[in-house]
Amino acid sequence: MIQTLTIIGVGLIGGSLALALKEKDAVGTVIGTGRSEANLKRAQDLGIVDSWTTSLTKAVQDADVVLIAVPMGAYEQVLQTIAPALKEGTIVTDAGSTKQHAIKAAACLPEHVSFIAAHPLAGTEKSGADAAFSTLYQDHLCMITPQDDVNADALAAIEAMWQDAGAKVLFIPAAEHDELLAAVSHLPHLAAFALVNAVNKQKTDEFDPLSFAAGGFKDFTRIASSSPEMWRDVALANRDALELQVDKLVDELQHIKSALKNQDKDKLTALFSSAKGARDAWLADRKQQQKDKP
Ligand code: NAD
Repeated sequence: MIQTLTIIGVGLIGGSLALALKEKDAVGTVIGTGRSEANLKRAQDLGIVDSWTTSLTKAVQDADVVLIAVPMGAYEQVLQTIAPALKEGTIVTDAGSTKQHAIKAAACLPEHVSFIAAHPLAGTEKSGADAAFSTLYQDHLCMITPQDDVNADALAAIEAMWQDAGAKVLFIPAAEHDELLAAVSHLPHLAAFALVNAVNKQKTDEFDPLSFAAGGFKDFTRIASSSPEMWRDVALANRDALELQVDKLVDELQHIKSALKNQDKDKLTALFSSAKGARDAWLADRKQQQKDKP
């Protein structure tokens, strides 16, 4: 049980963790802090936080655990602000989408606190306290990327926190995490943003292609409704791994383009069949995992 948990950034991710822990009686007091007073007030009305303040230093001074759940671009400013205010033994953790960036930013924390980097693989395209819900993490993976000199008790506490929230914890090196997530999470978001722009830029005064878009477009582009600020920061924080993934996607599109140009039926069938086979197998695997759940 965490006695006092401070959440910096009470949005979808931070708010959902607070709700999940409260539902399980796994937390005593939750203090919220962030930059938007209206959002923090809303978080209190929704029962996500017990109290709130816009002062980051006041919010963390009595915390046993501090969760950073702000966009990646705010990490340096947030960590440098709270560093002098943290009491001995506080565990600082985060839920950010890229882990090497988080670990680098946390280097400013004092010796008497522990930092444990984590990333729950769960989310929606919605933002803010209103988007939070207690079952967001249920049966989803949470990746923890401990450093070599990690404090074992702090690590166990954060592992237990995510398990209490319903997540399955996996330990993985930060660099490996960032490469993996660039492929399966960050690239799809970039592709969705690009696709919507590619179609929408064809709009004229007389013609709006989006008014003819249907289910396929909607399914593919759901994540293009995600927070632009958050995804800008994720993309920049993981830009090396992401540039490689963008190259891979461009290569695939080039293969399709050249098959179209050459009217190469076999090539197109092979490209589409290989994607269909991979996706169907992935879905079947997920279904089996759900069935195997105790
Ligand atoms: P969100 O927009 O719902 O919440 C972010 C909160 O941070 C907001 O309340 C905002 O007011 C606050 N904030 C922004 N800048 C701040 C600053 N400089 N100082 C203090 N507070 C600030 O976003 P979210 O979806 O909860 O994402 C939070 C973090 O979780 C991000 O780092 C993101 O990469 C990560 N994450 C998101 C998802 C997802 O699908 N949304 C999934 C996993 C991890």
